[in-house]
Amino acid sequence: MVDLKGQYEKIKNEIDEAVLSCIGSAAFINGPQVKEFQSSLENYLKIKHVIPCANGTDALQIAMMALGLEEGDEVIVPAFTYVATAEVIALLKLTPVMVEVDENTFNVTAEIIEEAITPRTKAVVPVHLFGQSCDMETIMRAAEKHNLFVIEDDAQAIGADYTFVDGSVKKAGTIGHVGCTSFFPSKNLGCYGDGGAIFTDDDELAAKLRMIANHGQAKKYYHSVIGVNSRLDSLQAAILNVKLKKLDDYAAARQQAGDFYDEAFKNIEELQTPVRQKNSTHVFHQYTLQVKNEKRDRLQKHLEENGVPSMIYYPLPLYRQDAFKNYVAADFALPVTEKLCDSVLSLPIHTEMNEETLSVIANCIKEFFEKNQ
Ligand SMILES: *Cc1c(COP(=O)(O)O)cnc(C)c1O
Repeated sequence: MVDLKGQYEKIKNEIDEAVLSCIGSAAFINGPQVKEFQSSLENYLKIKHVIPCANGTDALQIAMMALGLEEGDEVIVPAFTYVATAEVIALLKLTPVMVEVDENTFNVTAEIIEEAITPRTKAVVPVHLFGQSCDMETIMRAAEKHNLFVIEDDAQAIGADYTFVDGSVKKAGTIGHVGCTSFFPSKNLGCYGDGGAIFTDDDELAAKLRMIANHGQAKKYYHSVIGVNSRLDSLQAAILNVKLKKLDDYAAARQQAGDFYDEAFKNIEELQTPVRQKNSTHVFHQYTLQVKNEKRDRLQKHLEENGVPSMIYYPLPLYRQDAFKNYVAADFALPVTEKLCDSVLSLPIHTEMNEETLSVIANCIKEFFEKNQ
């Protein structure tokens, strides 16, 4: 699904140098690489504060802790996402309220959010799924109207550009009150281990986020609030300093692969290719098809038999996970989410794909639909 080794080989000299220099300096924790990365990412995202942390899940948890949400507060979250988004809500004894996503974009919308608002709703977590930004302009308007915090889960869409109606452009993850991302190796900006970051333009919130990520410490050995220990280590920051410079090129490579697939599948009626939004660029964390007429599992088997990897993101709505059964009624179901879980299939997409690999994959899929009319 990804080719991290091939990617490394192309940037080996730069990476090795950065890593060796970091080890040589022995500043493993909070070394200068971390500060450099923080400020480079602030510049790239055009945001005032980036707070690096240990992983994307921690980023979400720290964000929710810093916003002062209290036990029983409701947080709206799509049911079609990676578990981390909802897990931290439950972990903090907040109440996850699982909602539908749009059938074409896989993202939550302002309308869906507004329908789920109750007097207990305090926050919403739009997830920019698979690499496109949610429609943040309408979501922010709804949030303002109902006095909700907006925590963007930008783990899959770092680098995507969102365009407002007036033509202004912002990076996904920098529009809500706080944005969270992950540098897990297979993410669009991946390190060689775990990493994450939190973004905000709010000075006061940034100070709280920084404090919570560092044991609730305002001054060394003086702890104002209960916090966590969540750091991006210097080695990972050293790697990210090299890779951030290439992020836009990497996105372009992913977009090229996406364009190739779109073209290859345009005449296959039983496939819906990813719908490209007008107000967001697509950085293709995943290239996700919808396979019609219940042919998804058979197509996946055909691919497997021909040595082509594919993945189902995600096979089960969050509300059907055992871990969340106490948060929903036994018969709770969201029809679009159900349909997506039964029909989505993600194809290999990464920065090192060439036409030959893409053709092999595309031909294998075409062959399936020729044989299975
Ligand atoms: C990867 C991911 C996370 C969690 O990031 P980790 O670094 O693995 O903790 C959260 N939300 C979404 C949507 C993700 O894809």
